[in-house]
Amino acid sequence: MNVPATPTADIAIPNQAVIGADKVDAASGKTFSCISPIDGRVLAEVAACDSEDVDRAVTAARAAFEAGKWANAAPRKRKAILLKLADLMAQHADELAMLETLDVGKPIRESGAVDIAGSIACLRWYAEACDKIYDELAPTGSRAVGMITREPIGVVGAVVPWNFPLLMAAWKFSPALAAGNSIILKPAEQSPLTALRIGELALEAGVPEGVFQVLPGLGETAGQAIGRHMDVDMVAFTGSTEVGKFFLRYSGESNMKHVSLECGGKKPNIVFADTPDLDQAAKEAALGIFYNAGQVCTAASRLMVEETIHDALLEKVVEIGKTMQPGNPLDEKTRLGPVVDQTQMERVLEYIDIGQSEGATLSLGGKRALADTGGTYVEPTVFDNVSNDMRIAQEEIFGPVVSTISFKDAEEALRMANDSMYGLEACVWTSDINKAHKMARAIKCGTVNVNCVDGGDITVPFGGYKQSGIGRDKSLHAFDKYSQLKTTWIQLS
Ligand code: NAP
Ligand code: MG
Repeated sequence: MNVPATPTADIAIPNQAVIGADKVDAASGKTFSCISPIDGRVLAEVAACDSEDVDRAVTAARAAFEAGKWANAAPRKRKAILLKLADLMAQHADELAMLETLDVGKPIRESGAVDIAGSIACLRWYAEACDKIYDELAPTGSRAVGMITREPIGVVGAVVPWNFPLLMAAWKFSPALAAGNSIILKPAEQSPLTALRIGELALEAGVPEGVFQVLPGLGETAGQAIGRHMDVDMVAFTGSTEVGKFFLRYSGESNMKHVSLECGGKKPNIVFADTPDLDQAAKEAALGIFYNAGQVCTAASRLMVEETIHDALLEKVVEIGKTMQPGNPLDEKTRLGPVVDQTQMERVLEYIDIGQSEGATLSLGGKRALADTGGTYVEPTVFDNVSNDMRIAQEEIFGPVVSTISFKDAEEALRMANDSMYGLEACVWTSDINKAHKMARAIKCGTVNVNCVDGGDITVPFGGYKQSGIGRDKSLHAFDKYSQLKTTWIQLS
């Protein structure tokens, strides 16, 4: 592999928390190493915040909230400041994309076009919504006025994962800030950099101090302290189902804070023989699992194919997979970068061993790649002859590994699609509108894509059924979780 030098020299790597109006080290002075999966190099030693820092940030967030500079500001003022932040993000888009790629190994083309552009678009959309949402009057008759108003919920903790570091944060901070809350963002240990930079830019944009704070740190310390804090009103979490359940427990054992959870998935991508376009289905099936090295909660990780087209589809998916060999993500041509770290690589390789020992057939890949670079690359991997009860069909692998499962008819496809602890997304490829609607209604999940793999935009809600989560991100519905509903009943004499 021709590896371009990692351009860390000409870009400042943020490494301090943003608490109040200041960039600070952790109170303990502790740090953790931020490592690039591109080549294993240490990018920075980052402040390892823990409960003392969380206390400081919550105090600042509460003070800002009660002072009302943000919460009670005219919505058009909040809109103007959030749009200013979006403009600053746009001015720094190349820098943010580079930070994201260095930090988690995403292909640079995708960091810019998807993660950073998507985060900016999300923030703009919620900023615009600030002064366009009306409250309600209840149908009381003439003897009373029943006002139903939305109030910000207060101090919000956002705990997010490493697979789309800035974008998952933006899905939280954009509606939370637009609704008038103070937010404390804890990025994942593997991916603190863009969050820290956004914290700085928020202050520059004029977000009042204490309203948008960023605390890098470990899950068990900083994350848990946010989850258990008696003065945090709500936690918005994206991450694994296992840790999502911890937040429910933290809430129950502390102040019954609201908890919204966006957790794991095991998306069934169901391709019927009457798919309108087999080539398109194959292309999206491959991109749906190899995009972001498969580290996507909505990765199309179960490829379910009607048996009459099984061989034809699989051959096409394998051919596309062969063209997506891993490479340095700083190279504009690369489509498959490393997985996020050593632990994740070992986990993915272990699942590949498990799949083989369960009796699935390897049709492509299956090994580590580019080990000499010091990076954590895994080959695009396709399993065939998978049955839905195998671990590789039930558990979230979070790597570039797809499990191909054959089915006879719609009934069998539906039964297998729903035989999962997860219910985040599904896909159905068919030319039969009746079949599409029936499947869409019967699959237990938050989003069903028909004749595409990753449909949707900021205007539609996103979230899971079953153990994929509680609550919805995106769309105007996201405001529900960042708001309290207040009833004011005025009796008229
Ligand atoms: P994770 O291990 O659950 O971590 C998510 C966040 O929780 C991180 O900030 C992590 O901090 C923190 N955390 C870990 N242990 C904690 C604890 N004991 N108490 C409090 N906080 C804790 O998930 P991940 O590995 O970063 O991300 C992959 C997962 O995210 C996958 O399961 C994927 O499906 C899911 N995901 C879901 C969506 C969705 O919208 N449904 C979107 C993207 C990803 P540290 O990393 O610093 O420990
Ligand atoms: Mg990193």
